[in-house]
Amino acid sequence: MSEIRVRFAPSPTGLLHIGGARTALFNWLYARHFGGKMILRIEDTDTARNTPEAVAIIFKGLRWLGLDWDEGAREDGGADGDRGPYFQSQRLPIYQRYVEQLLAADHAYREADGAVRFRLPRTPGVVKDLICGEITFDRSHEPDPTIFRKDGSPVFHFVNVVDDLEMRITHVIRGEDHLSNTHKHIAMFEALGATPPQYAHIPLILNPGGSKMSKRDEGASIGEYMEQGYLPAAVRNYLCLLGWSPKDNREKISLSEVVEKFDLAQIHRGNARFDLNKLYWLNGEYWKELTPSAYHAYARDYLARRGVNLAAVDDRYLDGALDIVREKIKLGRDLPDWLEPFLDEEFAYDEKSLTVTLKEPQAAARIEKIRAAFGAVADGEWTAAKLEETLKALAVADGVKVGGYVHPCRAGVAGRAVGPSLYHMLEVMGKERVLARLRRTLRKI
Ligand code: GLU
Repeated sequence: MSEIRVRFAPSPTGLLHIGGARTALFNWLYARHFGGKMILRIEDTDTARNTPEAVAIIFKGLRWLGLDWDEGAREDGGADGDRGPYFQSQRLPIYQRYVEQLLAADHAYREADGAVRFRLPRTPGVVKDLICGEITFDRSHEPDPTIFRKDGSPVFHFVNVVDDLEMRITHVIRGEDHLSNTHKHIAMFEALGATPPQYAHIPLILNPGGSKMSKRDEGASIGEYMEQGYLPAAVRNYLCLLGWSPKDNREKISLSEVVEKFDLAQIHRGNARFDLNKLYWLNGEYWKELTPSAYHAYARDYLARRGVNLAAVDDRYLDGALDIVREKIKLGRDLPDWLEPFLDEEFAYDEKSLTVTLKEPQAAARIEKIRAAFGAVADGEWTAAKLEETLKALAVADGVKVGGYVHPCRAGVAGRAVGPSLYHMLEVMGKERVLARLRRTLRKI
């Protein structure tokens, strides 16, 4: 069998849509499974929408998802591989050459206004799709498609076909929204004397309400996941499940296993239902599995992207704080809030701490006792276990439940009614900081 060559051919729209990302992923999986080539082609002939920012978003999203390509467009406008340029906006002479070929063979004709139309055969258009099966389109009333506009610009259907031919694409794997035009593409291939590639149209992604997922739906853009601090591996895993699944219904599945198992035959015929809860859950599973150093690196990068200034924060202190909040959260977006009490000595007090916990008549006296008892703990003994023992002893001595000391202590050192394990938090904060914070709280109440 000749080499498999697939392509991802996005049009820059200003976002990388989840459907587009899935198309890119399925092409990538297919290429990797068969040891073929993945090509990236930017379909940027729509000059109104073709901005450098919109193109950059595509590259950024693909890189974030970890999808690479063997040939194609590069961020700097150049090309990987020798068949470029892979930006359609730079390929006009190629399209002109092909339209001349169609005109010469009378498969196309020029209208009075200069536009060029393709002579669509009137015979039924048969598409043998690897996913959707064989579909026949009646084209007895279909108008001849325009392939070049009167202003000399080429039309999508034509350039798409020319490029698939020029780039020797063997399999076109794309969204089902292109299925109804595929018979025209096949006719153009034939008119150019070429064998069309095989087609595989992937079912649509529906939002939970059952309608086609649009740009505006929550979760529609890969950029949202980047901003919210989802892990690329989790998003990639989730995208695999939008239309494909291993036979045993597992949901968490490693990329290498998907590469090994992936084939078009297993792609579901029915539409995929988008489920943000499942992605959130899956992210939590990947979150738990991050090694400590991968987690620290991810968190630092995410916080920096969110503008949290970590320059003045001691590295070991930050790692300790990150370790403690980790089990409380499933993704990056919750990090800044959970970390805030660790990072800011001028931390704010939340509503409950201010109006309930620290308003209790005994609050000040208890915090004073905590301060004295913690002050007496030797530096070398400053551990979660020792602090727990110390705090509990105070409660016992007072004849109150331990909560009577835990709550004012937590409010006193962090200003929050809820948070990670108190004793571990105290251990990480260290003696000096804890005592200083308790003093500050005493001054406030
Ligand atoms: N540029 C087209 C799109 O973004 C893709 C066409 C194709 O994959 O053939 O929808």
